[in-house]
Amino acid sequence: MSIPQMFEETVHKYGEKEAISFYGKSISYHQAAGMIIAFASALQKKGIRKGDRVAIMLPNCPQYVVAYYGALKAGAIITQVNPMLVERELDYILNDSGAETIVVFDALYPRVKAVKRSTNLKQVITVSLHEEIMPDADDHTFQQFLGMGTGEVLPVQIEPEHDIAVLQYTGGTTGRSKGAMLTHRNLMANIYQSYEFFKNEVQSGAERCLTVIPLFHVFGMTSCMNLTVLRGNSMIMLPRFDLEEVMQTIKREQPTIFPGVPTMYVAITNHPRAEEYGISSIRICNSGSAPMPVELLNEFERKTGAKILEGYGLSEAAPTTHCNPPFGERKPGSVGIGVPGTAYKIVDVATGKEEVPAGTLGEVIIKGPQVMKGYWNMPEETANTIRDGWLYTGDIAKVDKEGYLYIADRKKDMIIASGYNVYPRDIEEVLYEHEAIQEAVVIGVPDPYRGETVKAFAVLKSGKSATEDEIISFCRSQLASYKVPAIIEFRDQLPKTSVGKILRRALREEVVKR
Ligand code: ATP
Repeated sequence: MSIPQMFEETVHKYGEKEAISFYGKSISYHQAAGMIIAFASALQKKGIRKGDRVAIMLPNCPQYVVAYYGALKAGAIITQVNPMLVERELDYILNDSGAETIVVFDALYPRVKAVKRSTNLKQVITVSLHEEIMPDADDHTFQQFLGMGTGEVLPVQIEPEHDIAVLQYTGGTTGRSKGAMLTHRNLMANIYQSYEFFKNEVQSGAERCLTVIPLFHVFGMTSCMNLTVLRGNSMIMLPRFDLEEVMQTIKREQPTIFPGVPTMYVAITNHPRAEEYGISSIRICNSGSAPMPVELLNEFERKTGAKILEGYGLSEAAPTTHCNPPFGERKPGSVGIGVPGTAYKIVDVATGKEEVPAGTLGEVIIKGPQVMKGYWNMPEETANTIRDGWLYTGDIAKVDKEGYLYIADRKKDMIIASGYNVYPRDIEEVLYEHEAIQEAVVIGVPDPYRGETVKAFAVLKSGKSATEDEIISFCRSQLASYKVPAIIEFRDQLPKTSVGKILRRALREEVVKR
């Protein structure tokens, strides 16, 4: 089945149900379908054909959903663009994907105009969340564009196994951004895998999903949007993570499911009056994208009563490969077992071949219907990443005897101090146990004697204090000496990616520049 067919089935079954709630405005599946058809028809009228790339550069908003399903219905491939990208990065993604159309948040329109000449862009559609900025004569507002079609969509033959639905550019936390080619089958497989996994926990046509992780990121696209649509549930949408606004929305809209990243759960846990917002409507929190410190998981659950199920995935796997089972044992610190139909093993990091025994660290490799077709325009990178049908994740992990996966770190984040392998995660877990620390991250910095040494960055909880020496001696009581951070730098906040992951690369670059 293709993604547009899936949407149509939902409209058929749940047409009158709410698809989206956005700042109190409710849109049903029927209403959304009408706009999607209008959008697809206008794209076709403007010459978009099967396989053409349509870029979307929007925060979460109803127009995102219309543009996404509309472009897929017209047969196009979506190029996901993070609205935080600056001109140089935007130029790169537009050129790499060859997109000729972009749907953009109007506040970012100047950025798109600046790259129009150096890319293939022919048409720009601007989306306004509040007041409209009128685009240049050859571009259109979203509203204008919806009226430009015939209202009919020419049928497009989609082969789910082969046809690409989305170019999901990797976040670039580790380097140059690559477009993971996700086919209709990859996306459908991944939502069915989650559907199966959560079939006794999540209902159809009745749940409300707090949609605050960005939809341009693979986690939001699959967990908040495609999965919610598959089930005929409702997306309670917010364009950004603003703590007060999130709390107010929870109080007003009473969501039942909240996919998020650990930094979001940290913020809620540390809200001084969290309990007053009635956050107990939330039953299930799927945490992913970055490690969830155990201490934090316990504190969040104590305060809210919600259950956090940590999972793991990556853009290249549409994204989910693992999750703690809602039906079996949940192991804090682990990302759970493979979702249905997912094979995985841990192999020797150096050779990538021999499987290592349970409990031993190695690189986790994955096989399953959700694994991408390859990287767009990058045959060499594809051959390096997918070998014999196995996706090499670049993540260091181990499995226990029951097959639960534990992510240690990314291969690229591992620190080699005095010849020892040091995994930042081990140290971060300890730092989070310190009563004054709200957020912490660890990187390796060059050291003339040890090769690399461990440096930690920490944000303290408001009203708490601690000195560098205190934290170092706390770590000394919990960690082997080669793992103990030599330096602790206090910050008011840590740099984060748009999805809320702590950006180690930015901290490393700062250290190198100094
Ligand atoms: P890039 O891959 O270019 O660095 P990115 O981080 O945005 O960019 P994603 O595909 O969004 O790429 O992230 C996938 C990575 O996130 C995984 O390879 C893994 O390192 C990390 N990750 C995801 N879930 C977890 C988790 N539960 N625990 C630890 N790490 C996780």
